[in-house]
Amino acid sequence: MTERLTCYACGTTVATPAAPRCDCGEPRWYETDASGFDWPTDLDAGTWAAAELLPAHPPDAGIGTASGGTPLVRTPTLDEYVGAAVSVKDEGLNPTGSFKDRGTAVGIEVAREAGDDAVGTVSHGNMAMSTAAGATAAGLDCVVCVPADISDERLRNIARYDPRIVRVDGDYGQLYYDALEIGRERGVRFVNSDSPERVAGQKTTALEALVQHRDRAGDVPDALVLPVSSGGHASGAYKTLLELQAAGLLAPSEVPRLYLVQAAACAPIAEADERGLESVERVEKGETVAYSIANPAPPGGTRALHGARDTGGGVVAVDDEAILDAKRRLAGDAGLTVEASSATSVAGARKLVATGEISSDEAVVCVATGSGFKESVSAVDDVDAETVSLADLGDAL
Ligand SMILES: [Zn+2]
Repeated sequence: MTERLTCYACGTTVATPAAPRCDCGEPRWYETDASGFDWPTDLDAGTWAAAELLPAHPPDAGIGTASGGTPLVRTPTLDEYVGAAVSVKDEGLNPTGSFKDRGTAVGIEVAREAGDDAVGTVSHGNMAMSTAAGATAAGLDCVVCVPADISDERLRNIARYDPRIVRVDGDYGQLYYDALEIGRERGVRFVNSDSPERVAGQKTTALEALVQHRDRAGDVPDALVLPVSSGGHASGAYKTLLELQAAGLLAPSEVPRLYLVQAAACAPIAEADERGLESVERVEKGETVAYSIANPAPPGGTRALHGARDTGGGVVAVDDEAILDAKRRLAGDAGLTVEASSATSVAGARKLVATGEISSDEAVVCVATGSGFKESVSAVDDVDAETVSLADLGDAL
């Protein structure tokens, strides 16, 4: 169990309860003592397989017990397309169809152990659905703050879990920060995308993928490729790599390189990396099919950038054409239906091989963060089907 928060940037450590962000402006995460930690062996425990490195005890019932434990699928039919040996971590198989369920599970348990009655989040997509589902299953109230102009389809996807939905008219980026403060004053624990509870849960994606790769191939992958939006999931992956080194389970030369992928139309972290900046700056948001990762001012972006660089990886941007092509190939070649935002990892890996950052003899894990079954079937999915009479079926075959 871990009850202190620390800042990766300035090293300041504080006891909980504390604000989720450090005075220096960067997000805090939970301090952990990984000495004596060993590779987890019970992956059926999902998110809770390494509970000693989490800030809450495992629940004994509810969907929090069902988060994580997703398959790492070796996909040889994608090797030629990407140019390396590919495995896909299929996070779409979480209870509400995305990796967010890991962070939600931990956030809900931290809230319950602290005696909170209500949790909240600022999201109009996967995180809203996940938080609302997790809260109702745990008997907690839930507030979801969405932008006033949210689409009806998205609203209905969230509403099915029966949270209190508040449409907020104003700057959505500022709402992220204001909700944390207002929530603390009003007794609602906001588990936003890079909040310490959520990052603690989300670090388990990478841990699980590494354990699964080790079990199958004998060692961890050379590269871990992940879509990046707020930076919370990427920060979690980085934290896992730090903990495995602290535990003595990975030598510095064995640490997988962490690569982050953005949609070119909204790529503040990739731009900061390319320009050699130390911190991520807000960009203008363009339209992209990968709308759920289009965050023009990622709150955990600088930490994510730091993590990618620290592991010898980097950040790349891919355009919509490459994203849609990768999405089609994931389904058409490997049978995996992922959301467009998730396909960025495969598109990114392909680009990284083309630019020589990943070599053809390396093993790559691409994280598919969310299920494609939530996305409406649209022009994205070309259909190639012929019509024949029943009498002609034999000839057609
Ligand atoms: Zn700090």
